Amino acid sequence: MSYSYEAPVSQALFDRASRVTPGGVNSPVRAFQAVGGTPRFMVSGTGPYLTDADGREYVDLVCSWGPMILGHAHPEVVAAVQDAVARGTSFGTPGEGEVALAEEITARVAPVEQVRLVSSGTEATMSAIRLARGYTGRAKVVKFAGCYHGHVDALLAAAGSGVATFGLPDTPGVTGAQAGDTIVLPYNDLDAVRAAFAAHPGEIACVITEASPGNMGVVPPGEGFNAGLKEICATGGALYISDEVMTGFRTSKAGWYGVDGVRPDLMTFGKVMGGGFPAAAFGGRADVMAQLAPAGPVYQAGTLSGNPVATAAGLAQLRLLDDAAYARVDAVSAEIRTLVGEALTKEGVAHTVSAASNMFSVFFTDRPVRDYEDARKQEAFRYTAFFHSMLEQGVYLPPSAFESWFVSTAHDAGAVERIAAALPAAARAASEATA
Ligand code: PLP
Repeated sequence: MSYSYEAPVSQALFDRASRVTPGGVNSPVRAFQAVGGTPRFMVSGTGPYLTDADGREYVDLVCSWGPMILGHAHPEVVAAVQDAVARGTSFGTPGEGEVALAEEITARVAPVEQVRLVSSGTEATMSAIRLARGYTGRAKVVKFAGCYHGHVDALLAAAGSGVATFGLPDTPGVTGAQAGDTIVLPYNDLDAVRAAFAAHPGEIACVITEASPGNMGVVPPGEGFNAGLKEICATGGALYISDEVMTGFRTSKAGWYGVDGVRPDLMTFGKVMGGGFPAAAFGGRADVMAQLAPAGPVYQAGTLSGNPVATAAGLAQLRLLDDAAYARVDAVSAEIRTLVGEALTKEGVAHTVSAASNMFSVFFTDRPVRDYEDARKQEAFRYTAFFHSMLEQGVYLPPSAFESWFVSTAHDAGAVERIAAALPAAARAASEATA
């Protein structure tokens, strides 16, 4: 595919970056490899807009992959950060900001009786798994194909049917020993979970699942799926870990827990709770959390955990996220979903707009998508054409058909109008695309 528009400054930066950084990026999905073309180097963001190094402005439907739920450079978050920075950036001691953020999280999410702050979602899931293993004295972990929990060695066994089934390393560098205790199952399939527990009695430490998956595109749990997981874990003596790094404080005030009410033993958070800074957390039952050092024997630590600038940003953002803010995000998400669906229908493009609260994505298939296998059957080449047409017209979508789209309270009528104006040509491009 060739692109009729150019981004010479981004291209020059990408060339420079590629000389000093593998693939030119610091996180693979930023590199446009799935859609082709030059990744845009952004220089600033305000509200719902990003501006790239070539001076082009985009309506941002990625929102830093979820965190920027108030839009970019929200004045109150910026002020809280400036205030914190002026008082020093890291002390390596406890501070009141950490306490306040932990109190905010425990007040919002009832199953979180105690919480430990970390710096990334990966650290949160890695630590939660270690804690579950330490608490239960068991080794095996159940995860679902298509769910992403960060680049934790044991959790990268995810894709590729045979590889997934046998829990073999999915990426070079992850050894059989690291992945051998991971059981990968198809999403939304409780029978498969029951069968795994029957096959490994007394061996499974935990089941970890995205509370509502957004890393294979948006594939919400079927009716009763999370409740079923909880029950199977309780009966089988395992912990139920709900990964809310993406959904936490986004899909409602209490994240996905606020939507389905299924009480996990442990939960993980990131993204929104950091207000655009590296802050994440894991927490849950007090008796389980009590096993963590220094209260208990399971070791976990971090030089920058509970960093005062990150906690100030997260706290400022969470305090602004009241019922009205969620109502606004939900409403603008519904509006954009309708516009996308109408545009694709008008051009006769087979598609499904899949939503979980205000998170959504578009699958280029009209067959139901309930798991990773279904998601992979979509005509992803149509997304490539759709993506580039939107980009050319100033709308920044995730550079992959397998990612959630994100909106913010700052996505106002003007931003929605720009999206609406871009959609007809993008839908046409999708309809004319060839594999
Ligand atoms: N868990 C989920 C559900 C995620 O979506 C992500 C990141 O996208 C992670 C964990 C890992 O978080 P991080 O990228 O902060 O390490």
